[in-house]
Amino acid sequence: MANRIGIIGGGIVGIALARELATAGADVTVLEKEARLSQHQTGHNSGVVHAGLYYAPGSLKATLCAKGRVQIRDFCEEKGLPYREIGKLVVAVDDTEVGALAEIERRSRENGVPDLARIDDVARLREIEPHVAGVAAVHSPHTAVVDYAAITEAMGQDVRAAGGSILLHTKVTDMRLESGRVRVVTTAGDHVFDRVIAAAGLHSDLVARMVGADPSPKILPFRGEYWELRHDRTDLVKGMIYPVPDPRFPFLGVHFTRGVYDNVHVGPNAVPALAREGYKWLKMSPKDTWASLAWPGAWPLAKQHWRMGVDEISGSLIKPLYYRKAQRFVPELRLGDLDVKGGAGVRAQAWGSDGSLLDDFAVDQVGPVTVLRNAPSPAATSSIAIAQHVLEHYLAPSSS
Ligand SMILES: Cc1cc2nc3c(=O)[nH]c(=O)nc-3n(C[C@H](O)[C@H](O)[C@H](O)COP(=O)(O)OP(=O)(O)OC[C@H]3O[C@@H](n4cnc5c(N)ncnc54)[C@H](O)[C@@H]3O)c2cc1C
Repeated sequence: MANRIGIIGGGIVGIALARELATAGADVTVLEKEARLSQHQTGHNSGVVHAGLYYAPGSLKATLCAKGRVQIRDFCEEKGLPYREIGKLVVAVDDTEVGALAEIERRSRENGVPDLARIDDVARLREIEPHVAGVAAVHSPHTAVVDYAAITEAMGQDVRAAGGSILLHTKVTDMRLESGRVRVVTTAGDHVFDRVIAAAGLHSDLVARMVGADPSPKILPFRGEYWELRHDRTDLVKGMIYPVPDPRFPFLGVHFTRGVYDNVHVGPNAVPALAREGYKWLKMSPKDTWASLAWPGAWPLAKQHWRMGVDEISGSLIKPLYYRKAQRFVPELRLGDLDVKGGAGVRAQAWGSDGSLLDDFAVDQVGPVTVLRNAPSPAATSSIAIAQHVLEHYLAPSSS
């Protein structure tokens, strides 16, 4: 294994990488630009430990999610962190969605989702979720919820205990290859490493370009906004209620999730963010927005998905439209039950210069630098498995 290893990014993937390396005895330093870990995707997500229902069989998403779910469960058990298997229903609300539900069921079975059940009996549906409406569903009883920021913090403690360093307030601004090693320039001074692995989420394409990687795929930031259910109405949802997702889109649709601390959130939607870290409409970066509009993939993407874009943006700006989407699944839901805006996360979704949204996890290798290029959902679930995959395929002695 290489001697000095630098990791860029203090989200769950970067910290999982650092933990695997540090506990194996490597000299590891994590460089994170924020004042704390988990300030971006890892700290702003649905908290779901996915069981692997949706992903194309044989893909990295499918295989690493299945492995990662068990690893996250065991990690939570070992550290005494909350892990609740509240189960998920993917619901076809009418007959037009039954065909797409069958495809989810097929993929789930091929992916080995444990104890998956097909439900065609409305009475059985109501036993699982008493307030749900639908004609059929698949039920994944082992889909769970966790607190990913707490998990990342615990992994970070393991890194430090094994002798690794985590440097906060340290933004990487450039990288230079110097006789087989990497000089990493940061806002807090330079570091020289034998190998660097970047898990920089929303900035992963910018980091890749520092070492001359192909500009494609680029990151298209997609915000996901949540509402919280009023506390006295959370009994409308026991576990998780998901729609049948649109197969043309890599997002899962607005859903209900009972979180690990018993709050119930509704969301996330998927609207283009106007800045890489654009958690609100008002947070705009002319540079980021222009870079997206000028990307060759912008028009092909807009042409293909404009209807969905208009629908999602309208739901973001007009609460009753958002509410109506959710109410299809839980007819007793009232507009006033969506009490507080529950925050937002921004997904780091990679898109190609042809306008396609990358479906699978993707990794680039440029000399001694490995860059995770696409690690959206379910990368939190899969984080430990992604770390092991990257180390095995990109950092093993034969790949050095
Ligand atoms: C709304 C939403 C819902 C989601 N729901 C789920 C879910 O339920 N289950 C699931 O498994 N996944 C979910 N995901 C996906 C999951 O959150 C991400 O896949 C995962 O957190 C990715 O982790 P990461 O470490 O790659 O990225 P991040 O958590 O974004 O971390 C990247 C880090 O890199 C740092 N960084 C970037 N550039 C630099 C630089 N130049 N120098 C130094 N540091 C830098 C950033 O500050 C950041 O801390 C969701 C994501 C979103 C946005």
